[in-house]
Amino acid sequence: MNHLYRACRLCGHNCLADRQNGQKGRCRAGTTIGLAQAVIHHGEEPPLSGIYPGGSGAIFFSRCNLACAFCQNWQISQTPGAGTDITGENLVELMFTLAEKGVYNINLVSPTPYVLEIARAIEKAKVGGLNLPIVYNTGGYDSLQALAILEGLVDVYLPDAKIAQDPSLPPGEPDPVAMRLFGAGDYAPVNCLALLEMKRQTGTLTVDGRGLASRGLMVRHLVLPDDLARTSVLLPWLAENLGKDLVLSLMAQYHPNYRIKSDDNFEFRQFPGLTRPLSIREYDTAVEQAWSLGLENTFVQDLAAATSYRPDFNKPDAFN
Ligand code: SF4
Repeated sequence: MNHLYRACRLCGHNCLADRQNGQKGRCRAGTTIGLAQAVIHHGEEPPLSGIYPGGSGAIFFSRCNLACAFCQNWQISQTPGAGTDITGENLVELMFTLAEKGVYNINLVSPTPYVLEIARAIEKAKVGGLNLPIVYNTGGYDSLQALAILEGLVDVYLPDAKIAQDPSLPPGEPDPVAMRLFGAGDYAPVNCLALLEMKRQTGTLTVDGRGLASRGLMVRHLVLPDDLARTSVLLPWLAENLGKDLVLSLMAQYHPNYRIKSDDNFEFRQFPGLTRPLSIREYDTAVEQAWSLGLENTFVQDLAAATSYRPDFNKPDAFN
């Protein structure tokens, strides 16, 4: 599979970077895995974190193929030099270390640039006796080529759907809002294909007798102020194409963060809503639309999540 690093097309950017020979693409990843932190995460959705003390065994990778302007993980995703390079063997060991601590799953966070090494590590871990669900927790800008590598290895896909296609844009036209907010003008079309493929591979989310995710797809969507993520367009697409039984996590935790801190930031002056948290009315509108579309398996969040879910990766455990 190493040839896939020679002209990298593992995500929608299609950089064609020869990573095997030192070239870097948009994600700045080489051929070794960048590890930021491995922690027990109690703040994920109930099918992932479960009842205390189990938690989700979260392995956060450094670097990212997206460039979200308000990324809450910016310390590890977009800061040059963040994280430590590890081998696939190290990753397998980490999975077993977390499993021994009693976590309910192995949750691979922002894995896209490292999919080749990660696929090998999952395979080795499963052959070695790891019997926890593998959760692929991705920004949702994965290429079909990358997802093909994961077929049969990933148990639970947990992608973002960050923004819907602007219905007024001609097909194939880059979306300037998606470009400015997430660093990918074709995010929506790439994301739609990825979500469909994830559903094809694993189906609707199923849970075990303890209510813990065992297999399938759960989609995350962060509602933005002023409907900037086009939630009102996205929800009907999800219901129609992924089914009304889709398990959806509708997140309210938007907070002006990272590159968006004040309305003095000229770069984002055209999006004044981003300088404030989401309002209750905006979030309720999104939840009511989801329910009216029949998306009844929707996890909702308290607006207080905007302050309580902010990690600090300068601490040994970003969430504690
Ligand atoms: S993973 Fe994506 S961003 Fe990184 S080099 Fe490959 S195509 Fe480019």
